Formats: sequence, structure tokens, C-alpha cells
Amino acid sequence: MNPKADVIAIAIDGPSSSGKSTIAKGVSKRLGMIYIDTGAMYRAAALKAIRAGIETGDREAVGNMLPSTDISIRFVKGAQRVLLDGEDVSDLIRTQEVSNGASKISAIKECRKKLVELQRKLAEGESVVMDGRDIGTNVLPNARFKFYVTADADVRAMRRYLELKNADRLGGMTYEDILAETHERDERDSNRSIDPLRMAEDSVLVDTTHMSADEAIDFVVRFVTERI
Ligand code: C5P
Repeated sequence: MNPKADVIAIAIDGPSSSGKSTIAKGVSKRLGMIYIDTGAMYRAAALKAIRAGIETGDREAVGNMLPSTDISIRFVKGAQRVLLDGEDVSDLIRTQEVSNGASKISAIKECRKKLVELQRKLAEGESVVMDGRDIGTNVLPNARFKFYVTADADVRAMRRYLELKNADRLGGMTYEDILAETHERDERDSNRSIDPLRMAEDSVLVDTTHMSADEAIDFVVRFVTERI
């Protein structure tokens, strides 16, 4: 029997704060699959640049930084931790500064190449739920299931605002600031020349504007289990 015969990949893409990581995490738990958060990898690269005083949109400087940058992931009690040059930076990458830096650094070709290679390797021979922006379109184009999760920008900005507020990470930012940054990130993620955020033709749309996380998770789990 082919041991890889039942390997299934679920790709979940969508804009920031659409609920895709919550859904991906919930689905992976319910289906007993590994959850891989690819945004965390771009965030780790951005953190390195920020720490080194490198402008995250500076292609040459970022290109010079990448060969000596080691980004990897490990799982602790089933949860993904991201390591930057061996240091666990999982909690440090959740600031708004790193979010914006990640959105810029992810438009740099060399950075995408390095991280996409890592992402494909992680999905080899494993059943994974992977979330990001280009998973269904580029990283795992043959994924058995593809979902595109979105929500209205004001709803996404409010979710992000509350998330930062609850974590005491607002740093003086207002809801309006976050809404403006949400629009900026959407614009950058959707209009970059390489692997932009877009819905794969064969993906299923999940609009979470009026949906709770549990409803969205139930929808995806039902969709998948009815077809395997
Ligand atoms: O998903 P998350 O908000 O953590 O991603 C951070 C940034 O990384 C995004 O704004 C996006 O620009 C970038 N990203 C990407 N491709 C992915 C995942 C994330 O370009 N597969």
C-alpha cells in the first residue's frame, strides 16, 4: 500500500484578519491534521530585518540578509512555533510593526522563493491545513481542498483592533488607524507582482462577515468530510 495515499492538503487563503488562521487551526484539530501558518514565516523574516535596521521593502538589503537567515518551525503540544535563527519568536511577531513589515518583505521575490520552498517541504507526505495568501494558487496548487476566506474590511479591522486591545498591544493605535492599515495591506498583498493574493479558480468562498468562527469551522469540516 502506498503510505502517502491518504495524504490530504487543505489550502486556506484570504486577506488579513479574515478568520483564516482560526478556521485553519480549528479544522486541523477536528480532522487530526497538522496546521501550518505561513504568515508566521514572513513575519519572522520581517522581524529579523527590523531588528537589523533594514527597511523591509529594500530588496537588495533583504536579499543580502536572507542567505544567513534560518527560518524553521516546530510543534510544541501540537501548536506551531516559529524559529528565527534558532530563537523562538512566535510571540514577538504579532505586533502591528511586524505585520506591516511582513506585508512588505513578502513582496520580495527572493524572500518568497526561500519560504515557499520550506512550505512545500513541510507538506510533503503529511496531511496539512496550510494558510496564507498563495497556498492554493502557488504553494500547493494540487491541494485536494482549497478555501478562500474573506470578510468586509471594517469587520476585519475591528477583529484586529480587539485582538490587539485584548493582548494590550494597541500602542496608542485607534480603530481608524487599523482600518487604514488593513486597506493598505490588502492593496499591497493583492497588487504585488509576484504571487498576489487572489482566489484560486477551484477554491470555495467562505465569507465570515456574518459568521462565527465555529460556524465557519463547521462549514469547512463538513465540506471536507462529505468528500473524503
Ligand atoms: O497571515 P499573516 O497576516 O500572518 O501574514 C503576514 C503577511 O505575510 C501578510 O500581510 C502577507 O503579506 C504575507 N504572506 C504572504 N504569503 C503567505 C502568507 C503571508 O505574502 N502565504
